[in-house]
Order: sequence, then C-alpha cells, then structure tokens
Amino acid sequence: MNLDVLIFAAHPDDAELSMGGTIAKLTFQNYKVGIIDLTKGELGTRGSASKRMNEAKTASEILKIKARENLAFKDGSIKFNEKYLKIIISKIRKYQPKILFAPYFNDRHPDHIGTSQLVKEAMFFSGLPKIETKENGKLQSAFRPNKIFYYMQTYEFEPTFIIDITETFYTKMKAMYAYDTQFHNPESKEPETFISNPRFINFIKARASYYGFKIGKDYGEAFYCEEKIELSINDLLNQNNSK
Ligand SMILES: [Zn+2]
Repeated sequence: MNLDVLIFAAHPDDAELSMGGTIAKLTFQNYKVGIIDLTKGELGTRGSASKRMNEAKTASEILKIKARENLAFKDGSIKFNEKYLKIIISKIRKYQPKILFAPYFNDRHPDHIGTSQLVKEAMFFSGLPKIETKENGKLQSAFRPNKIFYYMQTYEFEPTFIIDITETFYTKMKAMYAYDTQFHNPESKEPETFISNPRFINFIKARASYYGFKIGKDYGEAFYCEEKIELSINDLLNQNNSK
C-alpha cells in the first residue's frame, strides 16, 4: 500500500505527542498516513512493552492510521548503523510516501537524535538504485520522498511552518491518553516520570496554544524543514491575522 505520509518515531507515543493534531487533520482529509516506531519503548519506567503495543493500537485507531509497524530495535540504543539504515530504507520503499516526518535532530533523548539521523540518511539513500533492499524476498525499486519535515519533541526550534490543529486538538489529546500507563493517573502506583507529571499535559496544551497564537489560531503544531518550502497563491491569500 502506498502512503501519502510516513512518520518515523523512536518510541510508541512520540508521534502522537509531537504531531497528533496534524496526523488527525491529514487522515480526516482522507490522506493515507503510516507510523513506524523504531522501538517498543521497553526502557520506559512505567507500563511494559506489551502494554505500549496495545496502547499504540488504540491510538492508531483514534487517529485513523492506515499502517503502523514496530521495528523492535533496542530501546536506548538508537544510533546510526548500516543495519538499521537498510531496514528504514526498505520501509520507505515499501510505502513510497510523498513526505516523511522524523524527530528534530537535536533533542533531550539520544534515541530521538539517532532516529532523526537514520531517517534523513535513509531518505537520501532510498533514491539510489544501487543500494539494494528486499521486502518479503523481493528486490525493491529505488524511491525518494519529496521532503522530510521534523517534528518538535522536548527541545524547541524556530519553526519553518505551523499547522493549525484547532479542529483536531481534542483528537490529539484522546490519542495521547490512549497511552494511559505513560501519563498522569492518580490511581497509578508506578514511579513518576518526566511525562507522567501532571505538569507535562499542561505543557503540551500550553505549547499548542503558544504556536496556535502565532498563526492566529487556538492550537498549532510546529515543524522544521532544512529546505525551502513553496507556498501556493492560495496559501499566501489565506494567511490569518496573528495579532
Ligand atoms: Zn521518544
């Protein structure tokens, strides 16, 4: 199945947290979106890898994701290497997405940095026919997506563009709450973490309001691109007054 958009994430829940509103907006407009998680998040302090898999399934249903795969790479060890690179290239060639999303290349969690580098290199090399990869024993043809965009995790950047997620903000929150072992739950006896602290949810809302305000909307998600982005005349004339 060919996808319009393919998102790579280091851990299940990363895609939902960083760009769940944008994903919902795409799928509600019938674009085909897939997510590939590199690890099962087995180093996560709360919950377990199998619970995270079930949570990811629920979140995917909420966001109407067409394809979701988990590469089961070792959590905490996502560094650039040839083996991982080839696997990621084979996924890009399998789904032939128009665009890719990856974590921003500087972040607090080293796995996010590793994922970012792997996806950027895979995007380039997947376009070279002399790099051979197979899917179910069949040689794949070369394919390169048009653009790669980076989503925001812990560390911030000056966005290249902001997507209005006002209409899908609550769907994003619902998809996030599908990961109920990870976030604040007054009943839970598990140790508190960076993201289970109730302040974290407030922070996610505040960030969405902050970037939303900058484009004159209630909620927004920020993205970065190393290349230039073309805007249509329609886009130019439909800018909102951000006062
Ligand atoms: Zn993560």
